[in-house]
Amino acid sequence: MTAPNPAIVLISEHHVDTLEHEFGRYAHDYDLYPCTSARQAFECTRDVVVAGGQVAMVVTESVLPDADVHMAFHKLREKVPTTRRVVATHWEHFIADGPAMRAAMAKGKLDAYLLMPRGARDEEFHNAITDLLSDWGSTVPDPEVVSVKIISPTRDPLTMAIRDFLSRMAMPSKVWEPDTEAGRHVIERYDGEPEFPLVYALDRPPIVARSVRDVAINIYGAPTELDLKEVVDVAVVGAGPAGLASAVYSASEGLSTVVLEAEAVGGQAGTSSMIRNYLGFPRGISGMRLAQRARVQALRFGTRFYTGQVVDELRPGADGEPHVLCTESGDVRARTVVIASGVAYRKLRVDPIEELVGMGVYYGAAMTAAREMEDQDVFVVGGGNSAGQAAVHLARYARSVTILVRRPDLAETMSSYLIGEIEYNRRISVRTCCAVVDGGGDGRLGWLSLEDVRTGERERVPAYGLFLLLGAEPHCDWIPPAVARDEHGFVLTGRDVPRELWSDGLPPENLATTVPGIFAAGDVRAGSMKRVASASGEGASVVPLVHAHLAPAPD
Ligand SMILES: Cc1cc2nc3c(=O)[nH]c(=O)nc-3n(C[C@H](O)[C@H](O)[C@H](O)COP(=O)(O)OP(=O)(O)OC[C@H]3O[C@@H](n4cnc5c(N)ncnc54)[C@H](O)[C@@H]3O)c2cc1C
Repeated sequence: MTAPNPAIVLISEHHVDTLEHEFGRYAHDYDLYPCTSARQAFECTRDVVVAGGQVAMVVTESVLPDADVHMAFHKLREKVPTTRRVVATHWEHFIADGPAMRAAMAKGKLDAYLLMPRGARDEEFHNAITDLLSDWGSTVPDPEVVSVKIISPTRDPLTMAIRDFLSRMAMPSKVWEPDTEAGRHVIERYDGEPEFPLVYALDRPPIVARSVRDVAINIYGAPTELDLKEVVDVAVVGAGPAGLASAVYSASEGLSTVVLEAEAVGGQAGTSSMIRNYLGFPRGISGMRLAQRARVQALRFGTRFYTGQVVDELRPGADGEPHVLCTESGDVRARTVVIASGVAYRKLRVDPIEELVGMGVYYGAAMTAAREMEDQDVFVVGGGNSAGQAAVHLARYARSVTILVRRPDLAETMSSYLIGEIEYNRRISVRTCCAVVDGGGDGRLGWLSLEDVRTGERERVPAYGLFLLLGAEPHCDWIPPAVARDEHGFVLTGRDVPRELWSDGLPPENLATTVPGIFAAGDVRAGSMKRVASASGEGASVVPLVHAHLAPAPD
């Protein structure tokens, strides 16, 4: 028996026919449920869920006969938490409802506020709808179309890491046990005694994966494909926003470009469920989709990407010789190098909590997620200024904010003005000598277990949000000493380079490091802004410097 199509629930008292007509173009892939009241919508949502179906989207008018729209969404979301929520307002109400709806959207209470189409082929409206449906499709647990089959008897960390890598690369995958029809089918195709996880990607012969890198090489190749004699114009280390922007601009300007990425394309941004402040995406965009679009853009200009490839060493070339980047799968020789290896937030290392990252658990201040914490109890882990600032910001929305620190007080780690602000704010409290040791919830964070580090006593508390500000460390262990860094390991560029390392009394160019032909962009650079837009801006700005370095010296 085939699974039912996902549902789209349409709610309008007077214009449900218009909505039904507009959504007719989706009826092949989705089942439409026209409703004239919130109550009818609740009932049909319940029926879909009871029958084992999924609700992809709820589209409602801004005015309902029997409920406030936000309350209706709130109630529906409890039943179908991943559903996308759209208000398609009738033009009679568009101006009057606008401010309240936009404010609600800013707080994450709905996903889109659109004007109901007034005529045929309103492609702007449908663009928004298909974007949201595509986003929904990438968050549902079992994709309809599977490009990679993973056969594994258990959901062990390697199997889950492979799945995570594939999902960040926008490659739909699914795990089957060996003793299933799909499992047997893949095992039959494997030439030898199967071990698990066995990965069958894109109709290539299945492989036994010992690491994520094996899967990455199987699908995307390895630097060994490069001709040993080849020297590329630009090698970019890291495919976060900075590296992706460098790749797009350098390849589009005719430079041969290779990107080496240790994990999946996207970097930190790729792990963000929704980036709302990136220019040009008014409804926000998931980090994975933004990254994959940039990857495709760079590919179209000829960039070669190697994912799952950690650069272990950078050997600067002397006297115009190429620089060499070493990976376990081969070396890359390049005239110029862009260091775009970003930062990693220090991890909490509590597995059940790591699994909820993006679902109530956030590394960093997650300014956007803060708005979704309205009237909730949230926790901030960390004793530094960034944790204090995050707590003050969160307290604008949340009912209570609790700062958790292992130390007995904040005095050593936080500025006194912030400590004062925190003491003054009645919504913020500080819990010292405390560590987060467990957490969970139904599909998103719902509770935490806190331990008193002096006594070992544990307490379970309800929690809607957990913000981890444990400090960020640059990815820099592979960077040679010739590239000057600050005391925290961030790469120094331009005027930040100490005077004694300037050459002929001049500092390096703005994004240039202390080694000619090696540049740095994005979060790994000392003094960077730590945002997607600034990282991609720097990634693009490196390219004129690359051109200048590659240009033949005047006679
Ligand atoms: C959860 C989350 C949500 C965020 N949300 C927002 C937001 O909404 N808006 C916003 O503006 N900013 C946001 N940020 C911050 C933003 O994502 C970063 O500022 C941005 O990604 C930095 O880009 P980058 O390219 O410099 O570095 P990164 O994104 O850190 O990318 C660096 C890449 O280099 C790779 N790498 C590291 N070392 C090596 C090596 N030795 N060899 C090969 N590859 C290597 C890493 O695997 C990584 O993919 C968010 C960050 C996080 C973590």
